Amino acid sequence: MEKAHFYHALKVVEKVCIGCTHCMNVCPTSAIRVKNGIADINKNACVDCGECLNACPVNAIIVEQDDFSQIFHFKQRVALLPTVLLGQFPDDISEKQIYSVILDLGFTHVYEVDETVDVLTEATKTYMKKNHQDRPFISSFCPAIVRLIQVKFPALVEHIIHLKPVIDISALFYREKLRNEGFLDDEIGIFYVTPCAAKIAAVKSPVGEDNSFIDGVINMDFIYNKVLLSIKQNKTVGIKYEIDKHMSRRSIGWTLTNGEASQYSGRCLAIDEIHNVIEVLEKLENEEIRDIDFLELRACDHSCAGGVLTTENRFLAIERLRKRGDWYHRNKPIILEEKEIEEYRPYLLENISIKSIEPRSILSLDTDMMEAMKKMEKINRILKVLPGIDCGACGAPRCQALAEDVVQGKAKMTQCVFLQKMLTKEGLITPQESFDISENTWGIKRFEKKNINDH
Ligand code: SF4
Ligand code: SF4
Repeated sequence: MEKAHFYHALKVVEKVCIGCTHCMNVCPTSAIRVKNGIADINKNACVDCGECLNACPVNAIIVEQDDFSQIFHFKQRVALLPTVLLGQFPDDISEKQIYSVILDLGFTHVYEVDETVDVLTEATKTYMKKNHQDRPFISSFCPAIVRLIQVKFPALVEHIIHLKPVIDISALFYREKLRNEGFLDDEIGIFYVTPCAAKIAAVKSPVGEDNSFIDGVINMDFIYNKVLLSIKQNKTVGIKYEIDKHMSRRSIGWTLTNGEASQYSGRCLAIDEIHNVIEVLEKLENEEIRDIDFLELRACDHSCAGGVLTTENRFLAIERLRKRGDWYHRNKPIILEEKEIEEYRPYLLENISIKSIEPRSILSLDTDMMEAMKKMEKINRILKVLPGIDCGACGAPRCQALAEDVVQGKAKMTQCVFLQKMLTKEGLITPQESFDISENTWGIKRFEKKNINDH
């Protein structure tokens, strides 16, 4: 069973928020309102894409992370690393150094997440053949996109490929490998180093799975800073991690734009950045685009290289990763783990499916169709009265959003500043009542600050 509510890793630090509305205006699902001068995120509508965090001028939006010390609750502590982590470091820092510091921090194993992409590629090809009626297939890679489809495009949910994303396949692989080495389940802790808030949310409230295969999530910027500091202080120079570790060009490119789409035949599109994705999904929903076979959709600009927890410029990170892939292609090293994955391939393929993904439409106004239609009519009536300029002064991003909030009993029409003026002029509300309404939206402090007598 999916959890009743989405878990969210993005939080507003109320003390820091200045109620500027920047986050509200960029949110792709209109999940944010300003109430009492502070941004308020609607948990059912947020998809953890991180657009709000990028837009906030005062860093009032943060990504919560698990307490690092929890890794020590386990005897076997596996750090699952996305390849974009390596792209964060300058060329003169080697993979051995990076992995050694991560082991120094307390992990007993490091494993690059994207090493199992061959298993997923094989399963996806079989899935697409078997379910050809569900074209276009949408990748389940980016959890922000899966949630976006659930809440904003519920009719497209059935197009999402019902296979585990690569981080879950790798977690499954490593857990099984350690079990076969004799460790008990509760001795094994698998921790993912994440480039984004969406992956944290996916681990805490998985979609299509009862439970996650991952025990905790560590933010990438946290690990990056620890590793860089340690290497700069010369504490670790490749002493713990001795294996020459290499991944194929395909695995390295997987998290970058076109990494997946380039693996399949037919009409495959790779689209990154959430507003671009929404544009394509709208066209798909309206049947303006047809005959597409596969859609790789990623919420971040330049895919995971642009994740909100990355530190390096995304173009530099991509260039480094591509160079690493090219080196592999030229040198074709022997990869120990590739052989191991082969042994586990039948087990992974057997366990690769996920359950159906449920739509979670925020657009449905009521579970009763008649009631929903009545509410829709009411929204249209309210919209005729509102000015339609989407100024945001009511604390909602658009007039449409205010109208929906009013019908759902979450806001009052008088929050619209234009209506307030008219009603005050007509004597239907007093100037004091009008002031009180604005104060409820923008908070007392804002009006204290703007005391015009001071100027
Ligand atoms: S962007 Fe949002 S969270 Fe940041 S200060 Fe403005 S209203 Fe507050
Ligand atoms: S594109 Fe990658 S980093 Fe960005 S939200 Fe999706 S999975 Fe996370």
